Amino acid sequence: MSQPSTPSRRRLLSGLTATAAATLLPVGKDNLAQAATGSGAVGDYSADVVIVGGGYSGLACARSLVAAGKQVLLLEARDRVGGRCVNQTLPAPFSQYVVEGGAEFIGPTQDRMYSLVQQLGIKTFPAYNTGKQVNYVNGKRATYSGVLPWTGLFSTAEIGIAMLRIDDMAKTVPLDAPWNASKAVQWDNQSVQTWMDANLLTADAKSLLRLAVLALLSVEPRDISLLYMLFYIHAGGGLTTMLSTAGGAQQDRIVGGSQSIALGMARELGTRILYNSPARQIKQDDYDITVSGDGFTVRAQHAVMAMSPWMASRLNYEPLDGPTQYRLQMMQRVPMGSIWKVHCVYDKPFWRDAGLSGQVTSDAYLPKVVFDNTPPEPGAPGVLMGFIDGQDARDAVLMTPEARKANVLKAMSVYFGPQAATPLAYTENNWQSENLSGGGPTGVFPPGVLTGFGAALRAPIGRLHWAGTETSTIWAGYMDGAVRSGERAANEILGR
Ligand SMILES: Cc1cc2nc3c(=O)[nH]c(=O)nc-3n(C[C@H](O)[C@H](O)[C@H](O)COP(=O)(O)OP(=O)(O)OC[C@H]3O[C@@H](n4cnc5c(N)ncnc54)[C@H](O)[C@@H]3O)c2cc1C
Repeated sequence: MSQPSTPSRRRLLSGLTATAAATLLPVGKDNLAQAATGSGAVGDYSADVVIVGGGYSGLACARSLVAAGKQVLLLEARDRVGGRCVNQTLPAPFSQYVVEGGAEFIGPTQDRMYSLVQQLGIKTFPAYNTGKQVNYVNGKRATYSGVLPWTGLFSTAEIGIAMLRIDDMAKTVPLDAPWNASKAVQWDNQSVQTWMDANLLTADAKSLLRLAVLALLSVEPRDISLLYMLFYIHAGGGLTTMLSTAGGAQQDRIVGGSQSIALGMARELGTRILYNSPARQIKQDDYDITVSGDGFTVRAQHAVMAMSPWMASRLNYEPLDGPTQYRLQMMQRVPMGSIWKVHCVYDKPFWRDAGLSGQVTSDAYLPKVVFDNTPPEPGAPGVLMGFIDGQDARDAVLMTPEARKANVLKAMSVYFGPQAATPLAYTENNWQSENLSGGGPTGVFPPGVLTGFGAALRAPIGRLHWAGTETSTIWAGYMDGAVRSGERAANEILGR
């Protein structure tokens, strides 16, 4: 579809108001056609609400507002929706199979995601979780069942007790205002590493807790505030839930890849989404708010920034009044985690025959966390997916592709035997190289930021509202949190 001239777009928008604004558009291909042409927004548009960002938060916000009869335009800088969640076809000859380059798992209590799955007629299937996990620690490989590997009586007991303590502390952190926790300042003045050094005696317990931080947030324990980690754990229902497969955050996968949900939402929203349209500036006055980019403006009554604080910090805001300066200062202090996802493809999931689940925890090599990511279709090739997180992810950007791949295959062969050293295909997704994400899985709060600036996280500034998973009080950092944040921003606008 070529871009219509400005008057036709205006007619289109007024047409939407008159006819379809109160209902979602039927499945259509217009948006995809626009994406295919590579064209972006051109000219002047108007809407009730302009949403910046077509990840789960922006899509959920748009969906709620459209359902309430609002005229909505969503600006997405990429040629696709889904943001930090993107499907990836495996390399030939497996190109009929899909895995995920970013977010993939959902689990119990992520009710907003399950609701979307159901509404869009999408199916889930359980992440493979049969057999034993591999634990590689102190140069030794062992297998185990359950959430925690056995590292010796004292260290296993110590990490078990530490997890209970952390969960107990987390429960005292108010989800809507972590900065009001009774020990907020004490906990926000220290990093998780500081707490580990003061409270854990064994190197193995420290190593396992570091691995938990890497697995949850893709940063090092030294990078984040203790208060923030406690908030994050409370928002996700506790450490065991967050780290578990069955009954936890990694329980289910989505047939057709997790981006299918975003693509389904985008089909409903149809031509309300303008792809390839990066917003650069947000300007508001007493009458309206204008979001502009290269060659276009959108004038609206409200705007929603639906992305991480770090990405939102890259736009220009006018006027730069006190509340905006305060939010900008906060956004400068919330960096993204450092993460790669790698996939190794084999003719079949051979580890299953050896009684292994494909899941790994390790204190060495790239990657340190592995899952079986085999597609659900019968006859699909076996796929091992590894996460490279934190300092490993940062160091990996300086490696040659050959050295990185050699590291990954060495790790897989240590974990699963020599057969794992020769995959039929190998892929990498480096989220640090994604200019429109800046890293992942989420923005994280270093010491001092929540108590210093937390109140700026969700507070609207005039006509400007803030969504994005980082602003959620439930499952912050996850797709479910993103959906909740978009719905919350919509409710703010609707006065609910
Ligand atoms: C490797 C990886 C693994 C993950 N695994 C999981 C998982 O298993 N389960 C889970 O629940 N979550 C997981 N996550 C986290 C999950 O992806 C995020 O929480 C969620 O997708 C965030 O959605 P969002 O809408 O808040 O932000 P985003 O998805 O970042 O969306 C923001 C959107 O804004 C767009 N944008 C940015 N700047 C502009 C601009 N100037 N103008 C217009 N558009 C702009 C971006 O292109 C993007 O589409 C993972 C993330 C990563 C990276």
